[in-house]
Order: sequence, then structure tokens, then C-alpha cells
Amino acid sequence: MDPITALLDDLLAEVRPLTSGAPATYIPELATADPDRLAFAVVGPRGRVRDVGDTDHEFTIQSISKPFVLALALSERGRDAVLAKVGAEPSGEPFNAISLEKHTGRPANPMVNAGAIATTALVEGAGIDDRMTRIVETLSAFAGRSLWVDEDVYASESATGDRNRALAHLLRSHGVIEGSVDIAVETYFRQCSLLVTVRDLAVMASTLAFGGVNPVTGHRVVAETVARDVLSIMASCGMYDFSGEWLLRVGLPAKSGVSGGLLAVAPSQFGVAAFSPRLDAHGNSVRGIAAVETLSERFGMHLLEPHESVSVPALTVEETDSGRVVRLSGELGFAGTERIAAILRELVEVLPADSSVTVDASDLGRTHPAALIALRAEFDSMPAGFRLAE
Ligand code: GLN
Repeated sequence: MDPITALLDDLLAEVRPLTSGAPATYIPELATADPDRLAFAVVGPRGRVRDVGDTDHEFTIQSISKPFVLALALSERGRDAVLAKVGAEPSGEPFNAISLEKHTGRPANPMVNAGAIATTALVEGAGIDDRMTRIVETLSAFAGRSLWVDEDVYASESATGDRNRALAHLLRSHGVIEGSVDIAVETYFRQCSLLVTVRDLAVMASTLAFGGVNPVTGHRVVAETVARDVLSIMASCGMYDFSGEWLLRVGLPAKSGVSGGLLAVAPSQFGVAAFSPRLDAHGNSVRGIAAVETLSERFGMHLLEPHESVSVPALTVEETDSGRVVRLSGELGFAGTERIAAILRELVEVLPADSSVTVDASDLGRTHPAALIALRAEFDSMPAGFRLAE
């Protein structure tokens, strides 16, 4: 077992004794889940999957479908059209709350049920089948394999989904849903009933982590701007009325579902997923939360602690026939230009006045416009032999 898988295995043993909470029962079919199931998976930048526990066990995706259907709606309609129908503010309320913005009737965000139903209603297509085809294609591309609906869970949710139906009727009364309420709600129930494994969820998370490109299949699934928008909303709203404390403790965009799945995204690093059906009072997996919190600590994934890669650019200094070359690689952020400027100033002091120094920025994987502007400006005050190659 490789050391990272061993770390995950240790974690499995650590959280297994947590037996508080209970599987969801309001969708009768979910109440039949084996509460002891437990699995984790992590997917890294080259698509390497590490998973432990009940990794092949399938469960319905439930609310974890919401960010991915949001990604589809954003891709099809654009951000403004989506925001016209659903907000981007944490609601501070339970996932099934009947809380709509005064006057507009807009749901607070696409991660609570009302907002998710409004988002699903934006997906293009004439009827349920058309829309589901697009949804299944998108979620399958995120997961890197073909997903399908658990018809028993779908039937169970549809038979008992009065609250979601009521929410959808309210949304239509405000003009948030413009078409058929039935199509919107039944499509939503079907998207929630897609079967996934913990491994699928980790691959889906990793596709968001790497800017919309699935690192296992290598395919671009959504635009980088779409992945960023989805992650932003997950960061503030993904864990319902626990989202603030989650961000404080774990520091990662995440999404949970009532069947016990949970995924979290460490941008440019990992996609992570956990599965354990016992839920806390917020409807989030008890062991899933404990596991991802510990993982975030052990792997140093909290987004709001210092990460040096942007402020300390990777560089090598080479002596060549045409003088000294400072070769930049990786990502150059605005803050990183301060380090390069400091190196250049040192070189000005120690080298003879007519020295040739080239900063080669042509191999940078990623630059930000402000970084290049700042870097170019440094050369205005440098000796003539100092130049920037872009
Ligand atoms: N299908 C579920 C519902 O609408 C999804 C809720 C959830 O996973 N939090 O109630």
C-alpha cells in the first residue's frame, strides 16, 4: 500500500467509531442504507486515484448533483442568466427551507433545494428525457464514466417529494421557474437519484480542482470560469447552515448529500470524497465531515493559510554564452514579481555594469496580467543589458 493510501486507511480506522447520527429517512428508500458503510477517495493532478473502504459501493448522489448541474446551467446560459433566477448568498438555513428573496422570489443559492430546482429548470431541453440526457452526459464527463439513475430511489423521492414540489410551485408563482413545474421537479428528482461511488465523487471533485479538466480522462468538461464560479458558491453555501463553520475548520469548497456522500475540492491539488450514511442535524455525513477535516489538516489543504507557490515563483539561474539567464516556470502571480525584482537588484549590485541578464518568462505555465505588468515595469529601471523574454 502506498503511503498516501495508508494515510487514508488510518483515517478510516480513526473515524469508524463515530456512530452518531442516522441515515436520512424522509426519502423512504434512503432509510434502507447500511449505516456502517465507509469509504474515502482522493484524486490528484495526474488522475491517480487512491481509495479505501467500501470503494465500489454505489449510492445516490443526491445534493452533490447540485454543483454539477449548476456547472451545466452556467455553461448553457451564462452567469448573468443564472444569477437572474438564483442568488449566490449563503442562506444560513436548512437545505429544504422555504426561503425565497422578498420581492423577487429568488432562492438564496443553487445549493439549497429551492435554488437547485430553479437551476435544473434552466437546463435546456424540451422534456425530462432531453434534460436528463444533458445532465447525465455532464455528470458522467465529470466522473469519467457513464452514470445512471437508481429507479427505486427516484420513485421513492417522487412519491414523497411534496415539499420540493411545493417549493417549485412557489418558484413558478414568482416567475423564477418559467416552464413546467413537473418537468423541473421530476428532472431534479432524477438527477438526485444518479448512482455514484466514492471514487466517482473524488474524480468529479478533482475535475473542479483542475479548472474543469477531468485529470483521469484528460477531457475538458467545463470552462475554467465555470469551475471557478461553482467552487465559489460551494465555498460559501455547499454545507447548508454549517457552511461558515466548515470553511473555518476545513477551508475548502465542498458539497454534501443526504445519502451520506461528501466531496471537497483543494484547487490545483486534489479532489476528495467520503461516504458514510449517518447524518448530523444539518444533513451532512458525520464521519465524512470528520474525515475531510482531518485530511485537510494533515495534507495542509486549508485555502486560507499561506500557500507559497504564487508568491515564490519557481526559477533557475543559468550561465550561458550570452550572459546570465533567470528562467521562470510554473505560475507567476503579482506577488511573485517582488522576489524576481529582489534577485535582479542583487544582480545589478554584484555584476559588472555591462553584464547581460535575461529573465525568461516564456516557459511560465500560468501568468496573471498584473504580474507581467509589474515585471515589465522592473526593467524600466534596470541597466541596458537586463532584458525580459516573454
Ligand atoms: N433529493 C434530496 C432532496 O431534495 C436532496 C437533498 C440533499 O441531499 N440534501 O431532498
